[in-house]
Amino acid sequence: MPSWWCENAWLPPGRVAARVLVTVTDLRITSIETDVDAPSTAERLKGLVIPGLANTHSHAFHRALRGRTQSARGDFWTWRDQMYAVANRLDPENYLALARATYAEMALAGITCVGEFHYMHHQPGGVRYPDPNAMGDALIEAAAQVGVRLTLLDACYLAGGIGEPLLPSQQRFSDGDAAGWAQRVDEIAGAAHVRIGAAIHSVRAVPADQLGDVADWARTRAVPLHFHLSEQRAENDACVERYGVTPTRLLADSGALGAATVAVHATHLTADDIALLASNLTGVCLCPTTERDLADGIGPAGALAAAGVALSVGTDGQSVIDLFEEARGIELDERLATYVRGTFTAGALLDSMTVAGHRALGWSDAGQLAVGMRADLVAVDLTSRRTAGGGGTAETVVFAASASDVTDVVVDGTVVVKDREHVRLGDVGAALQSAIDAVTR
Ligand SMILES: [Zn+2]
Repeated sequence: MPSWWCENAWLPPGRVAARVLVTVTDLRITSIETDVDAPSTAERLKGLVIPGLANTHSHAFHRALRGRTQSARGDFWTWRDQMYAVANRLDPENYLALARATYAEMALAGITCVGEFHYMHHQPGGVRYPDPNAMGDALIEAAAQVGVRLTLLDACYLAGGIGEPLLPSQQRFSDGDAAGWAQRVDEIAGAAHVRIGAAIHSVRAVPADQLGDVADWARTRAVPLHFHLSEQRAENDACVERYGVTPTRLLADSGALGAATVAVHATHLTADDIALLASNLTGVCLCPTTERDLADGIGPAGALAAAGVALSVGTDGQSVIDLFEEARGIELDERLATYVRGTFTAGALLDSMTVAGHRALGWSDAGQLAVGMRADLVAVDLTSRRTAGGGGTAETVVFAASASDVTDVVVDGTVVVKDREHVRLGDVGAALQSAIDAVTR
């Protein structure tokens, strides 16, 4: 039985224990002992070991935009034009290489599970590939090669805006209607490291009369349903003008809210919207670095948490891949908006990165160092120039560490990262460079 001896470990319900021996059988944690000496057979992990991190909202190909969209004035919509230019150069082969390198960067950052919000379904112009799920399969294969779990949130995307046809650059996202979307998604082959979930791209991209079809598909199969919600005020304005209600209300009336549902961003909400999300047990995934990057605004994280909404985090636009930065961004942005410190404890933010994120992606058996859970271990260096002197606490990890402080990562009992190196893939920087060159040159 493989075992890991941790100098310190973050154990539920929220404490640091010293000298922790974690024993694993068949991917799962079978025992946890604290304050014990290291057996000679155990692998040693230094620093503070935390559960695996869940990146609840990713678009892998956005990694190709990093550094390339920062040089001019603009907003979300001008950034989107730049994003579409890259999107329309993707094919199954270069998508696999780009997603593999991007997921490898995530693994090095301690991410053990990715929620990929996937709408790059067809060829440019909308023609099907011979295998209609070739692009989704590329993502599944990329995660397998990297050694992380994946929830493929296959997104229905049918319209260019509320009451508007698709733009030419959006044709490849569409299955024609929700029935066509469902038929294709039902044909995706699963794998042990994968869950298939559903997504409504947004109320912009799916007409109101088809929202319920996607929601029903997810509910029938008891899988996660995600959607972008109120990231932009323009979306709210268009929704109210066309339907007379906010996007949250429209989705609620369509049966799209529920305990397996996650709203992404949820930046511009009314008090009624927040109450609707809370009463339906719907979670929210915040993406603070993306919301900053795209000048979206600051979401009502404190109000959502006070209402009982479970918060998770995602790297979305991949301007950085660092869930420590995302998690502390929840609290630090709340400080800027409210002039109050300490709305979120470090422990609550760690939960957002780990157990809440895994639940949001349909892996309720991951994200905690506890018997019966999947054996995901992430060692965070407490002696780096960022973390030294802070002490082995959740506060040091959440408020001072960066992705670069992750030294070792175990996913489902398998070592994926050792001493800051990806065990299988080696030089991830070189892999990113060549994969991004292929879609930007
Ligand atoms: Zn997104």
